[in-house]
Amino acid sequence: MGKVIAVANQKGGVGKTTTAVNLSTSLALLGYRVLLIDMDPQANTTSGLGLTREDPATTLYEVLLDAARVEDAIQSVEVANLDVLPSAPRLFGAEVELIQEDRREFLLLDRLEGLIPQYNFVILDCPPSLGLLTINGIAMAHSVIIPMQCEYYALEGLSQLLQTIGLIQESLNPGLRVEGVLLTMYDGRLGLSQQVAEEARKFFGDRVFHTMIPRNVRLGEAPSFGKPAMLYDPKCAGAVSYMNLAKEITNHGAESVGAGTESAHP
Ligand code: ATP
Ligand code: MG
Repeated sequence: MGKVIAVANQKGGVGKTTTAVNLSTSLALLGYRVLLIDMDPQANTTSGLGLTREDPATTLYEVLLDAARVEDAIQSVEVANLDVLPSAPRLFGAEVELIQEDRREFLLLDRLEGLIPQYNFVILDCPPSLGLLTINGIAMAHSVIIPMQCEYYALEGLSQLLQTIGLIQESLNPGLRVEGVLLTMYDGRLGLSQQVAEEARKFFGDRVFHTMIPRNVRLGEAPSFGKPAMLYDPKCAGAVSYMNLAKEITNHGAESVGAGTESAHP
């Protein structure tokens, strides 16, 4: 059974997409079968993997509206073991169009349920809001990764996110847990980065990943070449740290599920 992980934070620009793309790629390179779902109408994951963000291909939008089969929307990319369910700007309309649907919080789950067992991991790149798309993502996830940028005000908004996660857990998804808080754009030369990291560890304790993602120009450049960092520059600090995160998460799985029961191994 695939493990579904939502990458979520309603704050914009904290590294959700960079995390979703590079974590998915790292897991795929480790030999796991991965489906990456772009749940953001900005379609940055889609374009960051070299898939066109301008129409006409079948996207998550058509899948959610039940106008296309999910199998027809999924695309393969340059990375072996990695499939992508792309997004497009028209997904912006979905939040409103789907509001009247029965089970509107479970549309994504209902469309994807049959497919999840084919993958070891399903990674969801959520948009920067706590609207219906993000709720659909968190409602079907086994766990949430919360990227947090090491800058001023980083903790602001996190209590609202945790409250939303708590509500979804109570009403829609009792098994949900926080996979971890991920410190992103960390710059060890800056006192501020260190302070934010310290505060996060004080507040979240061992729910903060050991792996921190450094501020790394290559991570910012790679998407404009339509590549994940580990294909663009495999040795760059950003690529190495996302690979470490993938290893930390796969070890997590083994620890929390118990030896031998984790099906994620290829
Ligand atoms: P949004 O909320 O708009 O979806 P996001 O949370 O998905 O944003 P990203 O798109 O991953 O955030 O990152 C925001 C910007 O910062 C991007 O230009 C990205 O390339 C850059 N970036 C992300 N992580 C790093 C990093 N560790 N080092 C340098 N640049 C980074
Ligand atoms: Mg994004």
